[in-house]
Formats: sequence, C-alpha cells, structure tokens
Amino acid sequence: MHQRIALVTGGIGGLGLEICRTLATAGCKVVAVDLPATPERQAGFEQAIAGLDIHLEATDVSDFDACAALVGTVQQRFGALDILVNNAGITRDATLRKMELAQWDAVLRVNLDSAFNLCRHAIEGMQSRGFGRVINISSISGQTGNFGQSNYAAAKAGLHGFTMSLAREVASKGITVNSISPGYVETPMTRAMPDAVRERIVASVPVGRIGQPADIARTVAFLAEDSAGYITGANIPVNGGLLMGF
Ligand code: NAD
Repeated sequence: MHQRIALVTGGIGGLGLEICRTLATAGCKVVAVDLPATPERQAGFEQAIAGLDIHLEATDVSDFDACAALVGTVQQRFGALDILVNNAGITRDATLRKMELAQWDAVLRVNLDSAFNLCRHAIEGMQSRGFGRVINISSISGQTGNFGQSNYAAAKAGLHGFTMSLAREVASKGITVNSISPGYVETPMTRAMPDAVRERIVASVPVGRIGQPADIARTVAFLAEDSAGYITGANIPVNGGLLMGF
C-alpha cells in the first residue's frame, strides 16, 4: 500500500518527537516541522530519530504564507500530505489583569491560527486524493479553563470548534478531523512547573501518575490509521481520568 505521508508540527518538542517516532514506526514517512533549532537541540533530535523515516523542516506555523510554502514543498517532494498533526503550542501565562496584548496574540497565533494556516493549504490535496487525517492537539485547559491561561484555554477551546466544523465540511471526502485533549504530560512544558504544583497535580489524577508522551502518541497513531475513518469531529481526552464526562 502507498506509504502515508505525515506532517507533525512542533515535531522537536516533547510530544511532537514521540508522535513523529510513533508514526514513523507505524510505517509513515514523517515531516517534523518546528522553528529553527539550536545546534544542540537539533543534534539531540537527530539522535532520537536515527534510523527512522523522519525529515526535519524549519517553518513558523503561525505564518500563513510560510505554511503555504511548506505544504507545497511536502506535496512536491513526497507526492502527498495524508496526515496532518497540529501539535505546535506555546504558553504565555498571566492572569487577565496582567496579560499583555502580545501574550494573547502569540498564544492565539501559534496554538489556533496555525491549524487554520496548515489545513487551509493541505485540505485541497487530501480532498483530491480522497484521504486525509487531521489531528489537532488541544488540551484539558480548553475544556475546563485554567487559572492564568485565558489566552491558552481560548485557543485550545477554539481548536474544538474548528475541528468539528472542518470535520463536517470534509467528512464525505475520506477526511477525518479530530482533536485530542491531553491532561498533564511529562514534557519540557510541564517540567518547568514547581515541584509542589506537580505533586498536587499527580495527587488529583485518578490513574495516579502524570501522562507520558507515548500516551498521546499512540492516540494520534490510532486516529491516523486508514481503518479509523468512522471517527470524526471527536475530541479524545487522554488525561488519566482527571476530567471525566460524556
Ligand atoms: P513543547 O514545548 O515540548 O513542544 C512544542 C514545540 O512547538 C516546540 O518544539 C516548539 O519549538 C514548537 N513551536 C513553538 N512555536 C512554534 C511555531 N511558531 N512554529 C513551529 N513550531 C513551534 O511542548 P509539548 O508539551 O510537547 O506540547 C505539545 C502540544 O501539546 C502543545 O500544543 C501543547 O499545548 C499541548 N499540550 C501539552 C500538555 C503537556 O502537559 N505537556 C498538555 C496538554 C496539551
């Protein structure tokens, strides 16, 4: 069968790297997209992906024109773009009273606009090939809100509305669009938390541990499968039971 081509944004990051490795291990050719990395960070990434079919591309996913160029390059070089994982994300936390416009803008641009920027250019090719998988990495913060994260929670909740609307538009074309809402996962983003905060979080998770990148990556790989075509417009919570609902 034709090898699926996957693009993973934030591909050098904690979750992104694991998603790239899991999709490549499942047989995909993977394009990891991230901001230009320092030589040390790039070397660490290259070591972690040794032997896997993963290619690194430097692109700022908050830049609409740069995303157009990226999608064009991937389709030209590899012949298709079948699986798009919108995973790049940043936090710029502050309570609303102290939040600068720049903090609001940066978080919306990277966490939400990026999904539009890439889908806008990738969806046409998926439609013409009759197959596509879009997987948006949201957050439990988008479901519950979080103190000091009005910008991040708004962007992550916005991803759900985007997911459901696009899912409806392309459902009849062989394309599924879903989001995943991780709880707390062990990555550089959460390692920056004070120990006391981490301990409080772990105590509140029914499963009794913080999530691992593999917990998220295996959910991405599941939704990306050819056989997952009947799941669309869904949000899959992967949070150790931290938020339960139906
Ligand atoms: P991370 O900081 O390790 O990785 C994020 C990656 O995105 C980094 O490599 C960064 O360079 C890249 N990036 C940032 N801005 C970019 C841009 N403009 N263009 C291209 N790349 C850019 O964070 P992570 O924990 O791996 O988070 C990945 C995703 O998961 C994010 O969307 C985050 O919001 C979400 N998430 C994480 C957790 C968690 O606990 N770690 C929980 C819920 C959701």
